[in-house]
Amino acid sequence: MTAPLPAAQLRTRVRVPLRFPDGYATTAVVSSFHGLVDGREHLALALGEPAAVPLVRLHSECLTGDVFGSQRCDCGPQLREAVERITVAGGHLLYLRQEGRGIGLYDKLDAYALQDTGLDTYEANIALGHQPDERDYTAAAQMLHALGVPALSLLSNNPDKAAQLTRLGLTVAEQVPTGVHVSPANVTYLSAKARRGHDGLHRAALLADGTSEVPAG
Ligand SMILES: [Zn+2]
Repeated sequence: MTAPLPAAQLRTRVRVPLRFPDGYATTAVVSSFHGLVDGREHLALALGEPAAVPLVRLHSECLTGDVFGSQRCDCGPQLREAVERITVAGGHLLYLRQEGRGIGLYDKLDAYALQDTGLDTYEANIALGHQPDERDYTAAAQMLHALGVPALSLLSNNPDKAAQLTRLGLTVAEQVPTGVHVSPANVTYLSAKARRGHDGLHRAALLADGTSEVPAG
């Protein structure tokens, strides 16, 4: 058995109207927390009407993709899609401050530089002394408990997220796949993610999309 999850408490809840560059607009109730285990300033955005089993997305921060529209990954389109789908279904977007699969912003940029020499995203992380994926969802589980969400529908292509949440005492009633957002600049990254990683559903989506034949690196 794992140790019991320390309880987190809601700190502040505040309404924030959102508008995306394509004009899509919605309103989030943004929550902050006391007592998150990693001490980081994670946010929960409640969107849409409350649902019995809310749709939840765990989105790990990606400054380059979320803010600047970087084409090296699919984080920006994933975030945009999640906000709209959760607004329709009712649920929560957890914005987790674990940049670059948990390795941090500067190391993510170092990894990009290594990728430009021919390594894929996983090899580059290992070359920098990191695990391929250092994301941890313990704080996310604390946030969901604090929000009064014992069971959820998880918007993700990544089975590791569902497995971690289940180990942390949440009930993942359903896993809902996201779209795959392929661009010329991110197809290598997405192919490596499908081939190497935890994103089994992503692999299936890429195969369905016919893009899995693109060579990595
Ligand atoms: Zn990204």
